[in-house]
Amino acid sequence: MTVMARPDPEVKDALLTHLRRHHPALCRHWFDDIEPLDVSGGTLQLLVRETVQLKYLRRCCLDQFTEAAQAVTGRLLAVRFVGEGEFSEETATPGAPTSGLAPSQIELAGLDEDMLLSPDYSFENFVMGPGNRLAHAAAIAVARKPGKAYNPFFIHASVGLGKTHLLQAICQTAMRDNPRLTLYYTSCEGFMTQFMEAVRAGKMSSFRHRFRNVDMLVIDDIHDLSKRDRTQDEFFHTFNSLYQASRQIVLSSDAPPNEIPDLEERLTSRFNCGLVAHIDKPCYETRVEIVKSKAALRSLRLPEDVASYVASRIDTNIRELEGAINKLQNHAMVGQEPLDLKLAQKVIGEQSAPTRSQHPTIQQIIDAIIQYYDVKLTDLLSKRRHKSIALPRQVGMWLARKHTRYSLEEIGGYFGGRDHTTVMHAIKAVNTKRQGDAALDHDVSRLEQQITAGHATPGVASGN
Ligand code: ADP
Ligand code: MG
Repeated sequence: MTVMARPDPEVKDALLTHLRRHHPALCRHWFDDIEPLDVSGGTLQLLVRETVQLKYLRRCCLDQFTEAAQAVTGRLLAVRFVGEGEFSEETATPGAPTSGLAPSQIELAGLDEDMLLSPDYSFENFVMGPGNRLAHAAAIAVARKPGKAYNPFFIHASVGLGKTHLLQAICQTAMRDNPRLTLYYTSCEGFMTQFMEAVRAGKMSSFRHRFRNVDMLVIDDIHDLSKRDRTQDEFFHTFNSLYQASRQIVLSSDAPPNEIPDLEERLTSRFNCGLVAHIDKPCYETRVEIVKSKAALRSLRLPEDVASYVASRIDTNIRELEGAINKLQNHAMVGQEPLDLKLAQKVIGEQSAPTRSQHPTIQQIIDAIIQYYDVKLTDLLSKRRHKSIALPRQVGMWLARKHTRYSLEEIGGYFGGRDHTTVMHAIKAVNTKRQGDAALDHDVSRLEQQITAGHATPGVASGN
């Protein structure tokens, strides 16, 4: 016989307060909708009605909630997130087998276990601006009318500009509008890994069943197909099979179809036969709106002038804007300081890339390298050491050192998580090679001109 007890209504408030204090970046405004059900057998059950939120909490927030539950009750409680219909006295016993599939599990059955949807990445949370208007409008059309509006739908943009966000928003809206829709969402890596695994285990028919019998297939970062001959071939057949059956295909990439290196022509032409939409960097006004929206998601009160300040200081990509908000939130929390312009200037002013008028940003340097050498971002940041990629990477680090104020460690971080000795070595290598290699010397000078064009003062040269 399990002892059941309704938790004190104050438990929830205390729980959320604890989480906000100790894990500010984790908290979202919709945590308010979580409903404590009961405490039984040492487990606090929390009801979460939205499927995407439920799955997200289970995968990403369990430890923090458990810690908070223990801290506020002073008991060694476990935490369990349950969906509607899943809750029963029977399942309240920890370890008891759940009988049958709950509705939320059925809905989720079509989703790749490894690819989690983030509740943050919805259309409601996507700020529209001139740079993403077409991609956004088309994404909504695709979500509402899978297989009918644009097929395939192909989004391309450089890193951190919202590709994954839009893809996940399509998935969430399509699933919500039509719970019967079967949908498979994964990254190109995920597709490749599963393909290799199926080949190895001799399970191609179940692999094909998984990918070819869905109403909507959504694959993120499809540019990773580059150079993968066998996977390209398999993907080609997957694509055809879905396309012929008018099933929706949604793809994202860091480059337009024609510019994905080493992609078979037959794939390029298929990617081009629906709608290809580009996302451009957000303008200042859009960045301000994004900062506000990210703050609102975290229930963070950000004064107008702080939002404008952050948006004016960071113009590279949106992931960095988010990073800045996190940093601000943490500083305010730790130092118990008001989150105002003064704090923002202190926190962001010190650490962010200097403004556009003085220096290029690392993102601009990376973009310039990618274009100039015609290499892929993923390769540039990868561990690959082949000369064709190692040299562009070294030049990138050299430019970053000379034209930004980032430290060696920080530059290493931007270039695929390398340590400061690697960056130092790269700088020395470029300095030495330039002396005996006129072509390299020319390349470096051209790149320097490119990245400093439009910047009032080229950065203060600082070899070290
Ligand atoms: P990508 O997949 O293109 O590298 P992401 O989709 O991961 O980029 O976006 C990076 C971050 O920026 C995410 O937190 C995402 O929510 C946010 N973001 C991008 N575009 C927008 C937008 N228009 N409105 C709100 N947030 C955005
Ligand atoms: Mg992405």
